[in-house]
Amino acid sequence: MRLVMKFGGASIADGEKIKWVAELINRYREHELVVVTSALKDVTDHLLERADRVADSGKLETVQELIAHLRNLHNDAADIAISDETIRDQVSDELDTRIHELEQALTGICYLGELTPRSRDYISSYGELLAAPILSGAMRSIGMPSIHLTGGEAGILTNSKHGAAKPLETTYERVCRKLVPLIAECVPVVAGFIAEEESGITTTLGRGGSDFSASLIGAAIHADEIWFWKEVSGIMTSDPKIVPDARTIPQVSYIEVMELSYFGAKVLHPRAIEPAIRHDIPVRVLNTFDPDFAGTLVVKDQEQGREVVKAVTVIEKIALINISGAGMVGTIGVAARVFGALADAGVNIIMISQGSSEANISIVVEESHLNLAMDAIGSEFRNGLVRELTTNADVCAITVVGAGMAGIPGVAARVFTAMGDNNINVIMISQGSSEHNISFVVRSEDAKKAVRALHSEFGLGHSF
Ligand code: ASP
Ligand code: MG
Repeated sequence: MRLVMKFGGASIADGEKIKWVAELINRYREHELVVVTSALKDVTDHLLERADRVADSGKLETVQELIAHLRNLHNDAADIAISDETIRDQVSDELDTRIHELEQALTGICYLGELTPRSRDYISSYGELLAAPILSGAMRSIGMPSIHLTGGEAGILTNSKHGAAKPLETTYERVCRKLVPLIAECVPVVAGFIAEEESGITTTLGRGGSDFSASLIGAAIHADEIWFWKEVSGIMTSDPKIVPDARTIPQVSYIEVMELSYFGAKVLHPRAIEPAIRHDIPVRVLNTFDPDFAGTLVVKDQEQGREVVKAVTVIEKIALINISGAGMVGTIGVAARVFGALADAGVNIIMISQGSSEANISIVVEESHLNLAMDAIGSEFRNGLVRELTTNADVCAITVVGAGMAGIPGVAARVFTAMGDNNINVIMISQGSSEHNISFVVRSEDAKKAVRALHSEFGLGHSF
């Protein structure tokens, strides 16, 4: 098989874990492999946060502190992960060179007092640039031929939209030409998240972008599967902290992943696996620390099985806004004005519902956007069309997800009967006509009870 394996920051948090990951990769050495790595845990956050502070404060001590921290973190990791002394020395030299480059760049930012999107990309690329040599060294140290590459060296070229660069059309072909000859001889370790403009300037693919790198590479080299090794057991039926018998979902479709990520389960970002899905390459989510567990398989379309509902999620920290007024009835364009005003204010709308009496529109937004949203709607409707604007921040949204519910009658009835049986008051309901989810709002104090009731109503705690 031809496989791309991607390891997230938590999987390679320190030397012991990197060593473990190298051994895990070694189990699959009879396959053709490409490894994609992200930065060591928290390093990207740290780099960006400190770079901002350096630019704001102009303090060279901040640079020195960060450099000392990164030097220790990565040298310690290399010392533990790489037992072969010659390899360890090589890697350590490379880390020194990289850290020196980073120090110079940060010093420049410190003097200039300015951090442009382009320099943010340059600085944040160092998380992956430092991780890749350590992992590749750990693999060589246990006898696997391996080299490491930056995203650019692997052929990933992008436009110049720093912070969220998009791959050029030609990238897929270029990555294929670069990597396919290599995988016959060794296991390339590619630094995820980072890429280059055609001119060689460093770009990044957006936060969390190493998943995207992996699916791009998988699509480019026509991999049989792409494996995302994470520190969780795949995608789950619900949050195990709320529902003790939550289980891993063995198979989901791409659409369900989209719905799940939209409604609070953030294991895989749908945008990140889009290239894999477009090229119809199956994606697996596996647990680095429980590697024999089958995890979750994500496929493009899934035949409808007997399980109509796959998962129940809850979103906290949301708020409900109710807009009402008799003047809204039959008045064309009220909804458009509401949504326009909210969009202009940068408010993210999570749910919408309008009764057919047209006297009322309900909107769910993130709690942190509530004031912004109220100001925007208030100033848009100064003329009195809207009589009443009420809010309730003490609410949560519950979502029942499953592509299989499309066209199956009775799912909504079961959902709301379960709520009634449990004495839970449903404040607002919304279901898109794609019928891949049913979402509704309840009081925060009822949220956990609601999730547990639905998880049991649809038998999600039992095996699929
Ligand atoms: N290191 C990058 C980030 O933290 C990319 C990734 O981990 O996927 O955003
Ligand atoms: Mg709330």
